[in-house]
Amino acid sequence: MPSLIGCHALVWTGEFDAAGITSSVERTKAAGFDLVEFPLMDPYTFDAATARKALGDADLTGSASLGLPEHADISSEDPAVVAAGVDLLRTALDRVAEMGGTRLCGVLYGSMRKHMAPLSERGRANSVAAIRDLAGRAAAVGVHLSLEVVNRYETNVFNTGRGALAYLDAVADTNVSVHLDTYHMNIEESDLFQPFLDTSERLGYVHIGESHRGYLGTGSVDFESTFRALARTGYDGPIVFESFSSAVVSPTLSNTLGIWRNLWTDSEDLAAHANRFIRDHIAAVRTIDLH
Ligand code: MN
Repeated sequence: MPSLIGCHALVWTGEFDAAGITSSVERTKAAGFDLVEFPLMDPYTFDAATARKALGDADLTGSASLGLPEHADISSEDPAVVAAGVDLLRTALDRVAEMGGTRLCGVLYGSMRKHMAPLSERGRANSVAAIRDLAGRAAAVGVHLSLEVVNRYETNVFNTGRGALAYLDAVADTNVSVHLDTYHMNIEESDLFQPFLDTSERLGYVHIGESHRGYLGTGSVDFESTFRALARTGYDGPIVFESFSSAVVSPTLSNTLGIWRNLWTDSEDLAAHANRFIRDHIAAVRTIDLH
């Protein structure tokens, strides 16, 4: 089965009220994508019923991602902070199921921020236990979890595909997979080929982002290796374009990710270009089988 090609909704808007949800779905569809990924930074207020209707009307698949805040960090040593994180994750899971989605991804395993100390053993054990519990609950409602590998300035739990595999070994639940993102890989990994091979058995979600998070092909990410590796391993999970500019601001996400610059202003042009870029690369590397 070919991959679903998707677009992160923050390409369109930082406001996820009913109007923002509906317009981001419609614009994602118009740009040529199969899937839209909603940021669920605040799952308590997310209008899943509106998302479900908009996705159905547009015949688009929905997924969701989040990074835990500091006060709800399941990798904390403080039981109250861990409990807040567990509650946030369970709420996010409910929202994904309510909107008819089947995938929840991102930095689910800890708080997304610059940490000033390494992860403690107890913090790691708390994180693993909470993700194992969430994975069971997710399976019961037909949702699959993918844990995003992000760079050292956004987590201290793991920063490479191999690090994620070691964490998944501890979780020991097949309803959790690895989520790789080329923007983060470009900072932390040896190259943009080997990690896709290393994680291929357990790779469930891929973010396609440029080194500066702007237009694909205008930075230093090695997309030739990326798409060759995905073809070589037969990856068939979602491939989702992620890009951020200060032209579109999310009150919760933009500051956490350090989006201080305007790298683009025309969301429609950016997204249509990304859709073509991803599909063209997939089509080209597929012919390698004929060589
Ligand atoms: Mn990402």
